[in-house]
Amino acid sequence: MSATSSPDVSALLAGRHRILVTGGAGFIGGAVVRRLLRETEALVFNLDKCGYASDLTSIEGVLAELGPRALSPDGQSRHQLLRVDLTNAEATAAAVRQADPDLVLHLAAESHVDRSIEGPGAFIASNVNGTFHLLQAVRSHWEQLPAERRDTFRFHHISTDEVFGSLGPTGRFSETTLYDPRSPYSASKAASDHLVNAWHHTFGLPVVLTNCSNNYGPWQFPEKLIPVVILKAAAGEPIPLYGDGANVRDWLYVEDHVDALLLAANRGELGGSYCVGGHGERTNQQVVEAICILLDELKPTGAPHSRLITSVTDRPGHDRRYAIDPTRISGELGWQPRHNFEEGLADTVRWYLEHQRRC
Ligand code: NAD
Repeated sequence: MSATSSPDVSALLAGRHRILVTGGAGFIGGAVVRRLLRETEALVFNLDKCGYASDLTSIEGVLAELGPRALSPDGQSRHQLLRVDLTNAEATAAAVRQADPDLVLHLAAESHVDRSIEGPGAFIASNVNGTFHLLQAVRSHWEQLPAERRDTFRFHHISTDEVFGSLGPTGRFSETTLYDPRSPYSASKAASDHLVNAWHHTFGLPVVLTNCSNNYGPWQFPEKLIPVVILKAAAGEPIPLYGDGANVRDWLYVEDHVDALLLAANRGELGGSYCVGGHGERTNQQVVEAICILLDELKPTGAPHSRLITSVTDRPGHDRRYAIDPTRISGELGWQPRHNFEEGLADTVRWYLEHQRRC
């Protein structure tokens, strides 16, 4: 791990006490919720439809670990689950009224590219219409806040570098890169980014946006590359590798992304966007081979796990390369990743070997 320290989250919140996290039962949202519960006294409202990728086990574990700190001074749990589907406008509005937030971190989305190719409708419904419903509900809430709360209120939209399309062998995405989404997932996220910016420019909603590269770490639903490879390899099953394995992703450990989110949500320029990535470019082949080598050490079987690597038909329209230039968030907000890829991957492999997911 690097010597960079994590941000002081309580100080960052600057008095914002009621935090609404959408998608807080998912992989990255869950990491945000855990940090807020552990490192602040904030009340966390977790709006999630609790779909296939959701798992509250890690949050329940943190609440148990916190003991009396899991409760607010008036005795209510500091984690309130609002089981709501953003595709339902009325339920979304009611949830926002109930949360009465000082800060919103919007992570809820359908998130898997392959599912977006098989069934794009759910991605339009959740990511586009869901974001629209949330923006309308939050705008109405913000407009009715007393002046001192309205002045410090913020809405942070969490997005992906996939909205920028695919790079050739050189160059990196930055805040000025033009949008060029190429999958139903990235197109739906791009649409939601545009809605968020429109609500800022048209209605004055105080928003900030981040576009992050691929995340990995504990609690990721095992349909994404890294957990799929770990679990298949550990079970001695064929490890699927798309096409020639040369697609490049810029991998970032999830806790480093959470640092960036908490900085941008609280201190980012309103109406601005920040690209987040940790100089972690690797081909899929390199990632799969690194996992196999780790498993050779941690779970030896007498034969190299790499023998299980099996080339499968490539994803249609598979973007070739993503890479992020994080100069803006590093320079303006002091963000630096705390984990390098080798150490973060080793921790992740150990975690998946030790944990069984509930769903
Ligand atoms: P995830 O699939 O693990 O979790 C998403 C959560 O959102 C789930 O708990 C799901 O139930 C919830 N959700 C989905 N649709 C909903 C709806 N209509 N109403 C209420 N809840 C709903 O995803 P993740 O990997 O944690 O990603 C979180 C966010 O970060 C997404 O917006 C994604 O686009 C973005 N992002 C992800 C990555 C990555 O590598 N995973 C990288 C950059 C950005």
